[in-house]
Amino acid sequence: MYDVLITGGTVIDGTGAPPYRADVAVNRDRIAAIGSLDGRTEARRVIDAAGKVVAPGFIDMHTHSDLTLRADARGWSKLRQGVTTDVTGNCGMTPYPVAPDPERARVLKESLFAIADDMAWGWHDVQGYRDVLNAQGIAINVAPLVGHSAIRGAAIGFGEDPASPDGIAAMSRLLSDALDQGAFGLSTGLTLPPSSYGDTEEVVAIARTLAARPGRLYCSHVRGDTVDGPTGMREALEIGRRAGVPVHLAHMAVNDPRRWGTAGEVMAEIDEAARDGVDVTCDVYPYAASSSGFSQCLPGWVQSGGRLETVARLRDPGTRARVRADMEANGLLAGWPWHWDRLMVCRVVTPEWRHAEGMTFAELGDARGVAPVDAALDLMVADEGRVQIIFFYRTEEDMRNFLRHPRSMVGSDGSALTADGPTGGGRPHPRNYGAAARILGRYVRHEPVLSLEDAVHRMSGKVADRLGLRDRGRIRAGLAADLAVIDASTVIDHATFESPHQYATGVPWVIVNGAVAVADGEPTGTHNGRVLTAA
Ligand SMILES: [Zn+2]
Repeated sequence: MYDVLITGGTVIDGTGAPPYRADVAVNRDRIAAIGSLDGRTEARRVIDAAGKVVAPGFIDMHTHSDLTLRADARGWSKLRQGVTTDVTGNCGMTPYPVAPDPERARVLKESLFAIADDMAWGWHDVQGYRDVLNAQGIAINVAPLVGHSAIRGAAIGFGEDPASPDGIAAMSRLLSDALDQGAFGLSTGLTLPPSSYGDTEEVVAIARTLAARPGRLYCSHVRGDTVDGPTGMREALEIGRRAGVPVHLAHMAVNDPRRWGTAGEVMAEIDEAARDGVDVTCDVYPYAASSSGFSQCLPGWVQSGGRLETVARLRDPGTRARVRADMEANGLLAGWPWHWDRLMVCRVVTPEWRHAEGMTFAELGDARGVAPVDAALDLMVADEGRVQIIFFYRTEEDMRNFLRHPRSMVGSDGSALTADGPTGGGRPHPRNYGAAARILGRYVRHEPVLSLEDAVHRMSGKVADRLGLRDRGRIRAGLAADLAVIDASTVIDHATFESPHQYATGVPWVIVNGAVAVADGEPTGTHNGRVLTAA
């Protein structure tokens, strides 16, 4: 007698191996058996998967669900695509460690404003975070990294000063504690303060702490590439080489319009580093646009001390004039040209400015009769530094070249959101709702960029292997029962930049740790996910 029996489906087992016909049985939270089981056994619940694919639940390699699942445990944007695990803690920023110093704790919370300024945290380290989320209940699993910005902020504060040897030692201790508590690795966000204030030497020194724990990753949102080439990527490879740690490069992209079309050259350099002994992988998401806070587009010195200090600088007319001059002289991030018609406001917290959502800064400037840069700075002040934007700074061709490369896996860079709750505001990037389904619908079915088993592999077994997650990401007896039943002939994303809060379709059944979380396309309300621990 099994708890769940999935009959008549085509198993794509997550290893990249060819599909085969089999029934899959689940007992409690484990896959119990695979084979020809129908009619030879009984089950409390039988799921008819005839004509459908049975795949491992997807593991999203790059997400920002750290607090969204705390704010709304349902996480439907991911669950309804068959995602059963989100890797959190990316791009340097995590809601832990929280410094005992109340001022530093306040700045950390301020920088993670996105969902609820007043959210009660109730933790200060990875284990505390795990305990709180597990006690609350969450719809999907979380595999947490620990972020360099959070560690640096807790150890030496959120200013732009270089770290002293004592500061580096303090950061290394905080990293070591997080790894002891089962964090899967260290993330940096080297365009986002205060991670961006750390130089190569600092990151190498801290990353050496990872080397004592084989398999824990150095995951990097790299420093902005300059017109000279993928300089941020080269720095990440150097850090891996010198610290002796595996490198995972986040959200691969060519963002500088002057370098569009060079994805192949970038991957060739990565392959060369791999031949020289660097253990390196990467992730990519299937859109030609990215998203973040507008604050990272400001010069680094303007962002020192956190969000409210940034806004105070912009309120001072003399300082604002210097900020503006610096922006115009030095370009966007690493000197990319400003294309104000390619920067679109997607989330504003202040109600009086919500009308700006969906407008580019060029349009907002026109509407207000001011230059686009002034429209952007006015909005930053009015919204107290919380403005989120979409950057249309990538090409479809580069994205496909990253996607089809054998070293890449899929990471949405999105969060687990639910449209009708506290995480349903603004016009966030459609990647939150659509990345996995878009891969299967557009880049497997409509255009054969990847085969179905290759795409599933890059969203399950390959990710599990990279994380050292030995009991997930594959369909094999004894492993955790995270499963998705997919209609490969219809699965598709529906979220768009204009209307992003739309769930994907074509994933009728999802099982998380043995519990049916989506039945006949509708979430059941079961919250059987948990915060995982690195082995
Ligand atoms: Zn990032």
